[in-house]
Amino acid sequence: MTASEKHYRNLMEELVERTLDEYLAKEPDVCSCAKCRNNMAALALNQLKPVYISTDKGEVYARLRELDWQMRCDITVAVHKAIQTVAGSPRHS
Ligand SMILES: [Zn+2]
Repeated sequence: MTASEKHYRNLMEELVERTLDEYLAKEPDVCSCAKCRNNMAALALNQLKPVYISTDKGEVYARLRELDWQMRCDITVAVHKAIQTVAGSPRHS
């Protein structure tokens, strides 16, 4: 299987990145440089179960709307914790 034939992905990565962007937009005091964002995303993703899907991009966004409330809640909590952890000890310098 070559890279171009790989049609699966971890939906959770996109959900965490979206949630992270939403939070960071509301928190101008928190550093949102690439290093901090990557640290936050990795921290949050380690707290969450991956959601692998075999699909193309159009269907990914259809699936986003089907996410249950508990999963959204878990993502929100994990992202919030990750932002607090990284904002408390940024490693960008
Ligand atoms: Zn930073």
